[in-house]
Amino acid sequence: MVGKANMDEFAMGSSTEHSAFGPTHNPWDTSLVPGGSSGGSAAAVSAGECLLALGSDTGGSIRQPAALCGNVGFDPTYGRVSRFGIIAFGSSLDQVGPLARDVEDAATLLDCIAGHDPRDSTSNPEPMPDLRHYLHRDISGLRIGIPTEYTQGMEPAVRDSFENAIGIFAALGCTIDRGLSLPSSEHALAVYYIIAPSEASANLARYDGVKYGFSDRTGATMWDNMEQTRARGFGEEVKRRIMLGTYALSAGYYDAFYLKAQKVRTLINAEFEEAFKKCDIILTPTTPGPAFPLGAKLNDPYAMYLNDIYTLPASVAGLPAISVPSGLTPEGLPIGLQLIGNFNDEGRIIQTAHAFERANGMANELPEV
Ligand code: GLN
Repeated sequence: MVGKANMDEFAMGSSTEHSAFGPTHNPWDTSLVPGGSSGGSAAAVSAGECLLALGSDTGGSIRQPAALCGNVGFDPTYGRVSRFGIIAFGSSLDQVGPLARDVEDAATLLDCIAGHDPRDSTSNPEPMPDLRHYLHRDISGLRIGIPTEYTQGMEPAVRDSFENAIGIFAALGCTIDRGLSLPSSEHALAVYYIIAPSEASANLARYDGVKYGFSDRTGATMWDNMEQTRARGFGEEVKRRIMLGTYALSAGYYDAFYLKAQKVRTLINAEFEEAFKKCDIILTPTTPGPAFPLGAKLNDPYAMYLNDIYTLPASVAGLPAISVPSGLTPEGLPIGLQLIGNFNDEGRIIQTAHAFERANGMANELPEV
């Protein structure tokens, strides 16, 4: 164990700027963010400070920093890795996974940490196949689906890299379906930003200064202490999420927000289920753009949230998804490609991502530091 990496407070963020310890910088260009919330892990891997790192992914927090730092980041099927001992953010979404320099390393680490754990009641009972068996396998005949809806905010360099990736899969003998439709995915951002804050507001209620973490005991009464503990102990973004979640769950709004979000979540899941009857892997860019400057989106929460627009649908559906480096922008910044697989189909994701990585030749590309 080399160390504990920096991250956004309670894993809420896409830039690691919401950390109580200060921001992490991107090793490819230190004026840029590394992504988040597991930005410290991604930066440590790409700076060569460690070979492997762990992250947690609720809506993109492994895949998005992996994309922005040129790593491989793998968010496995919901329940694959035990969450015993982890502080909960969005309990129906949280998942642990590896960040690594290449697909083989990511598969090796995931092999070590995956598996059923009776101490986590949401743990997936399906045995995880040995992922290393899926390396070096042919992918000809594999059906790749390209959803028509995942285009919002896509920058030209990302589009070029994505088109190049599609060409590589075609050259490897895959069949490409460019007409895949996942219309409800468009609402994944709205769904996520109701469900995740709602669950967070419940999960963080235990931080009342009595049993967990920071405690302010300067007030006259217990209630004063509790109020002060929460006012001083939580950062701005965490407070924003608690307020959003409390609002969405409150009497009179529950049906309009939380219940409706759950219904749309069911639609998103059903569309993925249909899609996986027609294809084996769904391909999208991981993020609409490359790493952005520190501070650029800090005061605009919505712009920050839009970074996760392509990673959120798989999170909402609990599906496994990996980000692999697909290329560099003209400025030399890494771009990530996302491969989404069906439930418990991590083997196929590793097989496909590894074949792509070998054909694309981007593995182990490190910034000059
Ligand atoms: N960036 C998203 C958020 O702020 C996702 C975070 C995560 O996956 N932990 O909620």
